[in-house]
Amino acid sequence: MSDDLAAALGAAASAVDSMVTLRKWNAVAYWSFGERDAVCAVCRNQLDEVCIHCAVTSDSVALDACSILWGVCNHAYHAHCIVKFLKQSRDMCPLDGSTFIVARTGR
Ligand SMILES: [Zn+2]
Ligand SMILES: [Zn+2]
Ligand SMILES: [Zn+2]
Repeated sequence: MSDDLAAALGAAASAVDSMVTLRKWNAVAYWSFGERDAVCAVCRNQLDEVCIHCAVTSDSVALDACSILWGVCNHAYHAHCIVKFLKQSRDMCPLDGSTFIVARTGR
């Protein structure tokens, strides 16, 4: 094997390495999106806390009473916030403007 060929193979191998790393990173970013540390784009409260409406109206914050809706676009909002928003926006997702279709709900 010539030195040139070895160098070319080495470069190709590291290119594949960085592609794999990038793909892994993207998968992690995609997966964590809409989960912890996420903020509701409607009320700006954390998604692992209750929405702003529940926060001001209830003294004892009941997390279970304020569920989260995930759309098929992978955006998540407090159910209270997105339901109110969708009524005004003709079912448009606040973040991407596409029709918001509920993928799952819960906590
Ligand atoms: Zn909210
Ligand atoms: Zn709420
Ligand atoms: Zn969306």
